[in-house]
Amino acid sequence: MKAHYRKSAGKPFIIPIFLPESGCPHRCVFCNQAAITGQKHRYLSLKTIDDQIRTFLSYQGQTRKHVQIAFFGGNFLGQDESYICQLLSKATQFVHSGQVQGIRFSTRPDTICDHLLDIIARFPVETIEIGVQSMNDQVLALSGRGHTAADTQKAICQLKARGYEIGAQLMVGLPGDNRQRCFASGERIVLLAPAFVRIYPTLVFPDSVLARWYAAGKYKPLSIAASIKQVKMLYLQFTQAGIAVVRMGLQPTSTLSCAHMRPAGPFHPAFGHLVHSEIYLDRAARAINKLGKPFKKDTRPLLIRVNPRDLSKMRGLKSHNITLLKRLYPMKSVKILPDTAIAPGCIRIN
Ligand code: SF4
Repeated sequence: MKAHYRKSAGKPFIIPIFLPESGCPHRCVFCNQAAITGQKHRYLSLKTIDDQIRTFLSYQGQTRKHVQIAFFGGNFLGQDESYICQLLSKATQFVHSGQVQGIRFSTRPDTICDHLLDIIARFPVETIEIGVQSMNDQVLALSGRGHTAADTQKAICQLKARGYEIGAQLMVGLPGDNRQRCFASGERIVLLAPAFVRIYPTLVFPDSVLARWYAAGKYKPLSIAASIKQVKMLYLQFTQAGIAVVRMGLQPTSTLSCAHMRPAGPFHPAFGHLVHSEIYLDRAARAINKLGKPFKKDTRPLLIRVNPRDLSKMRGLKSHNITLLKRLYPMKSVKILPDTAIAPGCIRIN
């Protein structure tokens, strides 16, 4: 049966409905969705969902043209079939009333099958996000995922055949993973060509298997610096292949900042910004290196021009990139200037 959904246009306004670990066959070693989403209840009544959607719609304003209701935080297609249909029917009411344009959800690759895809084809589902995490079978096994890279490959092909917009969620720093394996995972995902990816560093959440391994010294999380480097590597792989990276690092929530829920490992509330800043630092260093060594006796400031929307990425948090550039190169001063003539993502050095 063919899906009869509409393609989402541009970045949608997402109304998230969290169903933590709902439909999951077991808990993966790194997971604690209650800590991540700040929500304890696995199943929500249709009335609660209705209320949540209406609350979001009242915040939305008139600016976003494309609105999607998103079921996140669990394995959507692993839930009871009648609950899947109830959730989709509830969301579809808002699509039919014209307040929302489509539906999206996240699910495990090994729950995607033709039978369930036939069922969801009756609803205006536009986007499906797959929890890929890694394309290395050893890493997947050590992370307690219970599926293989071949499952992901098959799932993406099935979704493509039905024309869904596909998102892939990946992680760096999983047990058994390393930079080479991470790069190889990125290459395999590039070949599968999802529309977009989300990349998360592995964190150690309380009450997870990983937390026990961490306490016993059996798992060591990546440092912030190492996780930024790996996420940056994936970001460049994907964006150079034309695949959008829509998120890097977990969204900071009030739950994550609670002392008893705070994860160990490379958590930073502005993780994505740190990755972007390092990319801009690399670009500036490459451009300076091309200039040769003009700085030793030169007292004029080095001028770095960027598009106005890239200013904070070029500066880095608390102007960290300026400090690093002055440390790396013997320059008196560095000035970062906005210049609308420069295309976003580019820099010019004088
Ligand atoms: S499938 Fe996803 S939501 Fe479920 S336990 Fe694993 S990581 Fe968590």
